[in-house]
Amino acid sequence: MLRRTKILATLGPATDKPGILEELINAGVDVVRMNFSHGSAQDHIDRAKTIRELSQKAGRRVGILADLQGPKIRIARFKDTKVFLKEGQDFALDINLDPLVGDNTQVGITYEPLALEVRPGSRLLLDDGRIVLDVVNVENMRVNCTVAVGGDLSNNKGINLLGGGLSAAALTEKDKEDIKTIALMRCDYVAISFPRTAEDLHEARRLLIAAGCHAGIVAKVERAEAIVPDVMDEIILASDAVMVARGDLGVEIGDANLPAVQKLLIKRTRELNRVAITATQMMESMIDNPIPTRAEVFDVANAVYDGTDAIMLSAETASGKHPIKAVEAMNRICLEAEKQSIVRVSDHRVNIQFERDDEAIAMSAMYMANHTKIKGIVALTESGSTPLWMSRISSGISIFAMSSSEETLGRVTLFRGVFPICHKIDEKHDHAEVNRDVVRELRKWNLAKDGDKFIITKGDLTGVKGGTNALKVIVVGQGLTP
Ligand code: PEP
Repeated sequence: MLRRTKILATLGPATDKPGILEELINAGVDVVRMNFSHGSAQDHIDRAKTIRELSQKAGRRVGILADLQGPKIRIARFKDTKVFLKEGQDFALDINLDPLVGDNTQVGITYEPLALEVRPGSRLLLDDGRIVLDVVNVENMRVNCTVAVGGDLSNNKGINLLGGGLSAAALTEKDKEDIKTIALMRCDYVAISFPRTAEDLHEARRLLIAAGCHAGIVAKVERAEAIVPDVMDEIILASDAVMVARGDLGVEIGDANLPAVQKLLIKRTRELNRVAITATQMMESMIDNPIPTRAEVFDVANAVYDGTDAIMLSAETASGKHPIKAVEAMNRICLEAEKQSIVRVSDHRVNIQFERDDEAIAMSAMYMANHTKIKGIVALTESGSTPLWMSRISSGISIFAMSSSEETLGRVTLFRGVFPICHKIDEKHDHAEVNRDVVRELRKWNLAKDGDKFIITKGDLTGVKGGTNALKVIVVGQGLTP
């Protein structure tokens, strides 16, 4: 059985070790994430090149997602890399302090307006909420705090304001420079960090297009402002995929609110025909341990039940001790979770009128596949829209997106239940010949045997965007098929 939920793994020092990337791909990673908060442009370019080579070797298209740093507000550095903060002690954040000389009384920061945007009583959460500071007062741009929750604090950790409200724009000058690198790398997706409104995403798209990059846009939902109902819908519609970025989001809205928001975001994202990614701390204990906790097993399975397209690994693969085991664990948990009927039965979009014929054909294919004995669906697709619509419907049936478009093959790597197959079809092909080509391709990858029934969706003029106008049922080895 092919796993439908996609695994997105963050690259980093742990995956740069010899042989690890190849093992990751063999273990089932579908998309890799290049985190532009760390590493140089050249590091990312080199990794993308290696991924393309390995993906070719494996015969499986692995997608590349570039994650822009965004206006992550961070502390600067400590003289001794890290300090220990005791509950009740004083600690200050100071924009005017040399960024390299922090100690256990004070540290520099990267965000100038912080002193203007907090007030006495504001609560600051550092390092994803592990350290909590209460603001006492602000003196000459120095934010004086009391430590409410102490612990180790190391260089460059993030700062969030409980409840949100920091005004930083989503795209920084560094992001704008990184977009040029990402265009050269031909990434499949670009993640925008901390968008406040849909306009942040429209601006990102304009910049990407100007740089010659047609990657899909992922909105990382990690600000309290982004989950206000109308804003949430506008953000989803302005993007191609939405990431439930539970690290920063949980810090801003409070951890107890996260489960309900995750479910709502995934549901709304699917309803609006966009792709959902669930991220952060899914396998956190595997940074050190070879097996997940029971709670992590449930978290991954629950994200599958919620309908997520992809689940993401962060430090588990980027810097953890067991990157391959983390992917293997996710793989086996997803496969089991996907056997449950709640993820195969759909009442999605039963009461709506479809706007387009190709969309109606995609829905008809899913209805038929879910109600008859079908081995799989093959969508001959130029733009990737047909497999996207299909994959919004819960199902246990594999959808093979056959396309000659590199851009489309890269995009579908994130779609739940959709598997990219590179396949060239001439524009004015005879239809029986197209079917035969499809079956030969499926057989080549051991995806079809005699007697298997497949649905093929295609257009009269294959190779044309938006042209799907036919649904065909074929049985392998019978009639005109080889
Ligand atoms: C998050 O905050 O959950 C997240 C995915 O963002 P990052 O890893 O960039 O902090």
